[in-house]
Amino acid sequence: MKHFSINKKSKRSLARAGVIHTLSGEIKTPAFIPVGTRATVKGLKVNDLYDLGAQAILANTYHLHLRPGEKIIAKSGGLAQYMGANLPTFTDSGGFQAFSLGADLTKRRSKISAKEKRDIPTHVSKNERDIVHINDDGISFRSIYDGSKHFFTPESCIDIQRLLGADIIFSLDECPPTDAKHSVHENAVHRSALWGERCLARLNTHRKKDRQRNVKKIQFLYGIVQGGRVRELREASARLAAAQNYDGYGIGGSFDKEDIGASVFFVNSILPEDKPRHLLGIGEPEDILLAIKSGCDTFDCVAPTRMGRNGTLYTGQGKINITNSRFKNDFNSIDKECDCFTCTNHSRGYLHHLFRTGEMLAGVLGSIHNLRYIIRYVENIRLKIIDGKI
Ligand SMILES: [Zn+2]
Repeated sequence: MKHFSINKKSKRSLARAGVIHTLSGEIKTPAFIPVGTRATVKGLKVNDLYDLGAQAILANTYHLHLRPGEKIIAKSGGLAQYMGANLPTFTDSGGFQAFSLGADLTKRRSKISAKEKRDIPTHVSKNERDIVHINDDGISFRSIYDGSKHFFTPESCIDIQRLLGADIIFSLDECPPTDAKHSVHENAVHRSALWGERCLARLNTHRKKDRQRNVKKIQFLYGIVQGGRVRELREASARLAAAQNYDGYGIGGSFDKEDIGASVFFVNSILPEDKPRHLLGIGEPEDILLAIKSGCDTFDCVAPTRMGRNGTLYTGQGKINITNSRFKNDFNSIDKECDCFTCTNHSRGYLHHLFRTGEMLAGVLGSIHNLRYIIRYVENIRLKIIDGKI
């Protein structure tokens, strides 16, 4: 099955409009993919997702492995069936969550200078250094839910994602914080490439067995590009990933606003043009536009729903905090142009009231608006690419 086709390419940038094909359906790109970390997009029913124009859902391997466990999801018929969602699904590798809880740098300490030891990223607390360990075999960590011990290897990461059954899955990677030392990023580039190869080998073993048993199941594997903010590391990582026969690519790591366009542009200039590229964890409209012009096809981010639950809402004039008292008597919709359920039916003043009184509907309506805003924003960019206006 051909995974990706390009309908139109921009003449002035790397932007392209295309279609990702999966057994569960198509995704017209560029596309924003809502995040359903624990097999739910917080506060929204699947019908809401269809109404928003969501074309797929991205869930998280780390969380689903810990709860309810991939075996239960496999027994139910796979992630989409488990969620009752008639949409293509993605699962990310879970590596980022293991790292964001703290990578063990204690093992690296023996290899680095005294100054570097003092510079160990502050996102890793002293306690966390003791619960997350990484070496070439994989990542060991403790569950954030019950403290139980777990170990992700590239192979187990694929086995887990295999049972979760998403259409698009990601290889395990090492994801250091943006401000980590050059040597840490360099090491992560090489380790991520090795882990990616092992993920691909494992998936190919599963694919072979499927063919022998005549099982009709297609999972597309995306290899990950790392490298932080260093151009040569990003390029090296892209070349390593491009040399492998992945179905697509995930561009990982956090970016600063100033370098998102540049970093991603270097990477996508190297990656094969005929395969889709997913930028992990990017959700701000201006960042998405830059990333699309730099050749990315899909995006995911928890920001629109997280902000929507907290009352920070997108408008064409920038974000507003609906809890601000100036909205108490404002009976306009959140955004005049928006066609979402919230904007069609409710005023800023009503949302202000719901947020101020802590009503559960507040977060639901906020999430609906923010998600639709971003999805529609990307849909419009797609139309502009097709019309030759980008
Ligand atoms: Zn709206």
